[in-house]
Amino acid sequence: MPEKVQIQYDALVLGGGIAGMQAALDLAEQGYTVALVERTETIGGNMIKLSKVFPTLDCASCITTPKMAAVAHHRNITLMTLCELRGVGGAAGDFEVKVRQQPRYVDTDRCIGCMKCEMGCPILAPSREQHGFAGRKAIYVPFASAIPQVPRLDAESCTLCGKCAGLCPTGAIDYFQKPRDLKIRTKALVLATGYKLLRDYPARAWGEAADQPNLVDALQMECLLAPAGPYKRLLRPSDGKEPESVAFIQCAGSRDTQLGVRHCSRVCCMYNIKQATLLKREHPGMRLAIYCMDVRCFGKGYEQFYRNALEMGVEFVRSKGVVTGRSDDDGVIVRHDDMEGSGGPRLDTFDMGVLSLAIVPAWTPDGLAPVRVAEDGFLASRQPKLSSTLTSSEGVFMAGVAAGPKDIVDTVVEAGAAASEAGIFLKGLQAGRQRAA
Ligand SMILES: Cc1cc2nc3c(=O)[nH]c(=O)nc-3n(C[C@H](O)[C@H](O)[C@H](O)COP(=O)(O)OP(=O)(O)OC[C@H]3O[C@@H](n4cnc5c(N)ncnc54)[C@H](O)[C@@H]3O)c2cc1C
Ligand code: SF4
Ligand code: SF4
Repeated sequence: MPEKVQIQYDALVLGGGIAGMQAALDLAEQGYTVALVERTETIGGNMIKLSKVFPTLDCASCITTPKMAAVAHHRNITLMTLCELRGVGGAAGDFEVKVRQQPRYVDTDRCIGCMKCEMGCPILAPSREQHGFAGRKAIYVPFASAIPQVPRLDAESCTLCGKCAGLCPTGAIDYFQKPRDLKIRTKALVLATGYKLLRDYPARAWGEAADQPNLVDALQMECLLAPAGPYKRLLRPSDGKEPESVAFIQCAGSRDTQLGVRHCSRVCCMYNIKQATLLKREHPGMRLAIYCMDVRCFGKGYEQFYRNALEMGVEFVRSKGVVTGRSDDDGVIVRHDDMEGSGGPRLDTFDMGVLSLAIVPAWTPDGLAPVRVAEDGFLASRQPKLSSTLTSSEGVFMAGVAAGPKDIVDTVVEAGAAASEAGIFLKGLQAGRQRAA
């Protein structure tokens, strides 16, 4: 039986990406106690895995890491990792949230972060953070700036050889840790559970596409381009060769009413331009073609960013019905309907391809939380015209991509707004209690 623990906070923020971290920090700065609940072993979300950010090309981890540290050190924030929501009971002002914490197999209070366990572990398994392009040990910290800086033992790849426990100077390794059920009483909830990519789309749409080693998705490309990426430069996963040409295929699952999703994922135009720009700067001779129905540059400085890419020689191919195949030398064949020329089908071959897969919610309430979802699957707003952060339930707020696809700038603004709405709600509760007393 999992151990049961009960705790109480003013607000519980679900999801430790940039939206959840910002909302937690803003609430904590207002003097409220906050539980930040994250289901993986570290906070940082998708943003910490990006290479650089459009349109400024700032390093993504240089912006995210200080936020992660601020969360970890704020006295009003309690960080809970490896925690999954099991249910929400009660009502606005007094929710009872059930959370199950999966074992880390390392005692966080005892661990001093010396990494002797990781260095001594003989087992290498594919790294989820590096999309399987690189390995990690069976006991590992997922990346250098992960928070908390406490390793996690992956029970599936561990052989229980006992080396790590023998090397640990503080006796922190506990092979017998069990899941813990936590009951958290909270007055308000902020849902910031973010997104994932619609990864089964190519298989459903194109069949063969799933077997192409050099056709990667956009988050895999971010990983390959990141300063801490597996090869430190762009190399083809199949043979380690430097590609001379890369095709970017947009709306792979977005704006596709038959096999994908109806909505526009909003950021793909811009991140494809970013990825192509980063490559062009390093390799001016590389052929880079973006296959798109149109280019949506909605934010400040975005249009200029697009024009700069055009001037650098990035090709924009107006196209529909893009299908890919594998060439004899593991290149990516792109077939599309030419929207500007004859309108007929055209074929082209590239060393690598990138699919801009649709952005879909990472989590949906499925009866676990008292909130509605909209037609597109993201959390629904109670007052879409007045506030994007009010869910269908009083006392429950939302922020970031959990509420719909958006870029980092809009995510951070929305997280601030959610914290502000939640703060007003909490103040209202206090005032009501004072009047009643
Ligand atoms: C390929 C790509 C490149 C991009 N490049 C840029 C860019 O250059 N510039 C830009 O502005 N935007 C970019 N974006 C968009 C950017 O990634 C998002 O705007 C931003 O990361 C959204 O943050 P978030 O906190 O809402 O979600 P996420 O980063 O997804 O964070 C959500 C967090 O919640 C956790 N979580 C999920 N479900 C649960 C649950 N049930 N319980 C507990 N925790 C949970 C997740 O583990 C995660 O840590 C890019 C997107 C993609 C796909
Ligand atoms: S017990 Fe598991 S985690 Fe520890 S060193 Fe052996 S294989 Fe690695
Ligand atoms: S060896 Fe022990 S103290 Fe050092 S990082 Fe591993 S678990 Fe922590």
